Amino acid sequence: MRTVSFPDGTRVSALGQGTWAMGERGADRRAEADALRLGLDLGLKLIDTAEMYADGGAEEVVAEAVDGRRDEAFIVSKVYPHNASRRGVVAAAERSLKRLRTDRIDLYLLHWRGGVPLEETVAGFEDLRESGKILRWGVSNFDTDDLEELFGFPTGRACATDQVLYNPEARGIEFDLLPWCAARGIPVMAYSPLGQAGRMLRNAALRTVAERHGATPAQVALAWVLRQPGVIAIPKAATAAHVRENAAAAALALTAEDLTTIDQAFPPPSRKRPLAMI
Ligand code: NDP
Repeated sequence: MRTVSFPDGTRVSALGQGTWAMGERGADRRAEADALRLGLDLGLKLIDTAEMYADGGAEEVVAEAVDGRRDEAFIVSKVYPHNASRRGVVAAAERSLKRLRTDRIDLYLLHWRGGVPLEETVAGFEDLRESGKILRWGVSNFDTDDLEELFGFPTGRACATDQVLYNPEARGIEFDLLPWCAARGIPVMAYSPLGQAGRMLRNAALRTVAERHGATPAQVALAWVLRQPGVIAIPKAATAAHVRENAAAAALALTAEDLTTIDQAFPPPSRKRPLAMI
């Protein structure tokens, strides 16, 4: 499994696991935790969650999944912008730690930019880092101008990642954000890499490439996202079949011909576009 390096040198698997929509129904929780555990077995060590998902229910599913094997997993969680004041962020992280049944969050993100001044949130993140409750912090849904502003603060440069929408249908970040992060050695986390399993996976180009490799369109979408160094993909899969299929995508190498086929269906950006988000 290819790994990606954070600015502090910590390496994680480039293919991780998402958890949005997990933990919503009590009856599904065991199967969801099983799916995440299978993902860990197959090398998908990074698990992405948030206080927002199922009102904390997804974090509880993650706790179940990593029970007895916490050290293997790299847990990412996120704070709501309305909880992101200096004190609010600490209180939110403590609630997340309780639900996750752990003593540290490997990477803690501001879910999107809200009304709290960034410097305040960063001060809260740094408090959490100093106390060991989080090991590093980052942001999500930040466009390049937001990152520029963040990096203008003395402590802003400690930012470890930007988690953004990235898949063949949404590739605007290739124009400026991906190169901006690459130049600074900051990995980008690609959310909704499967386009939430909507119409993108029925696209003819993805199907053509999939047929060339005896693969599935979902695997092609993941291999396409992972073709970029410094990019982590976090597909969400609640079934064992999907987890196995996604894990196998890590070994799929797309050819130049495949990339051209995909470019024809989903042209790369030729100018700056505002950051797309879900
Ligand atoms: P994804 O693109 O990961 O798609 C998830 C959907 O794809 C689910 O319905 C899943 O079904 C299905 N699926 C999984 N594997 C396959 C497969 N091999 N073949 C066909 N279908 C498949 O969408 P998400 O929006 O969930 O994004 C991934 C993660 O990114 C989230 O779970 C969350 O952790 C994070 N995220 C972060 C955001 C942010 O603002 N920071 C915003 C959105 C997402 P099933 O579950 O039944 O297996």
